[in-house]
Amino acid sequence: MLDPRARRDLERAVGKERVLTRPADLAAYAYDAYGASGERRLADAVVFPTTTDAVSRAVHACAHHGLPVVPRGAGTGYAAGAVATRGGVVVNLCRMNRVLEVDPGRSRLRAEAGAVTAAIHRRAEAAGLYYPPDPGSATTSTIGGNVACDAAGPHALRYGATADHLCGATAVLGDGRIVTLGEGGDPSPLLPLLAASEGTLAVITEVLLRLIPAPAARVTLGARFAGMEGAAAAVAEITRRGIVPAALEFLDRSAVDAVAHAGVSDVEPGAALVLVELEGGDAAAVGAEADSVVEALEAAGGGAVSPASDAAEVARLWAVRKAVSAAVATIMVGKVNEDVVVPRDRIAELVARTEEIGARHAVPVVNFGHLGDGNLHVTFLVDPRRPGERAHGDAAAEDLFEAVLGMGGSLSGEHGVGTTKLAYAGRQLGAGGADLMRRLKSRYDPAGRLNPGIKLPAPTQAS
Ligand SMILES: Cc1cc2nc3c(=O)[nH]c(=O)nc-3n(C[C@H](O)[C@H](O)[C@H](O)COP(=O)(O)OP(=O)(O)OC[C@H]3O[C@@H](n4cnc5c(N)ncnc54)[C@H](O)[C@@H]3O)c2cc1C
Repeated sequence: MLDPRARRDLERAVGKERVLTRPADLAAYAYDAYGASGERRLADAVVFPTTTDAVSRAVHACAHHGLPVVPRGAGTGYAAGAVATRGGVVVNLCRMNRVLEVDPGRSRLRAEAGAVTAAIHRRAEAAGLYYPPDPGSATTSTIGGNVACDAAGPHALRYGATADHLCGATAVLGDGRIVTLGEGGDPSPLLPLLAASEGTLAVITEVLLRLIPAPAARVTLGARFAGMEGAAAAVAEITRRGIVPAALEFLDRSAVDAVAHAGVSDVEPGAALVLVELEGGDAAAVGAEADSVVEALEAAGGGAVSPASDAAEVARLWAVRKAVSAAVATIMVGKVNEDVVVPRDRIAELVARTEEIGARHAVPVVNFGHLGDGNLHVTFLVDPRRPGERAHGDAAAEDLFEAVLGMGGSLSGEHGVGTTKLAYAGRQLGAGGADLMRRLKSRYDPAGRLNPGIKLPAPTQAS
């Protein structure tokens, strides 16, 4: 329950009509995409500032009243990071959604933090340029949320994640101070730290992004495989040939079956699918790479390999990949959705382990993701309405994390730690890594005001 004086100060900060405190209103902000099948927590208030100054005033008011601040974009996060797990005020950036400037001469784009990722793509494209990070949520997620999670997506394999395109930002610190970082501002080490900070170091209000020339040539190929061993062998062969595709994605057989079953996209069930996209400035060179990739896919046992012949065929291939999340949601109401990374040459082994783990806990599993990066979206399907089934899914996730850490992998490739992986983060980071993160947090947010309870393992959790 919000103190009336705190409410009054928040209303002064952002405007009376931009402060929500009724439980019925707060409920819509009590979860993110992860919480669609679980965790919910009401904030004391949700505020919708429209300028950096208003964010600063709101954060200052929270500091004055001792309230936690939870930055939030579109709430598409998969780690329950934009939820007020310890109460406090959700600062929702979605009304700061303008692309402010595109400078083709300098290949730069400046946008407010609540700008939707797809709007960034469109504005870059209209200027003949390219912003490669393309999370599957791009039509909804915000660029501030992308920075805070260092969002990646299929094309990160060649071009890197959001951090690799961030050259400046305006942000509000936990005491309400405004800082301008990077190009045209303070050369502070805080700028690179904002990427993947999950709202724990500052509220990002504006970003300056580096764009690249749009590729003149692109070839997209699909190939079907009887199992993941063949798909993994194809990746090894493509790598051995020195080719770095723009994207190298996969769906295992159960993911393809889910898409076919849900009827959300046109695909034959019964085989794993690998999708390769090659891009470059020279059509002949991209064509030669495509020929070499066809050979590599066929040598590894790939069937029905052929470059997409037209834009409609390219769109169909990507539609299958992008339909997986929605397809899975149509075959089961709940899911425990993980985002682990293992060395690329161990992907087939991990997929086999996930099947064993799913069978042991009696939860079906679907695997898909970024084959070229070793980043698997392992999805255990659960029906939370059945007693105990959510717990089976959580136990499967725990076994998965053990397996991944044992393979020298990482708990999250792109979705972040949030609260959902917090119990394991200490084990991955070790005592030294966790301590370093806590020291960085106390340097930039000494009062611990920003997103408490997220991302940082407590001292006792670090091994
Ligand atoms: C269908 C689907 C597909 C997805 N595919 C991908 C994918 O391919 N790749 C990928 O990387 N992710 C993917 N995601 C996850 C998610 O979309 C990303 O993590 C995205 O970056 C979150 O953006 P958001 O605006 O929704 O942030 P939110 O969910 O609102 O917040 C996420 C985190 O960022 C913090 N945050 C948000 N805005 C700010 C800000 N302005 N300043 C400081 N901190 C902030 C929050 O506190 C929270 O910790 C997918 C999600 C869905 C639902």
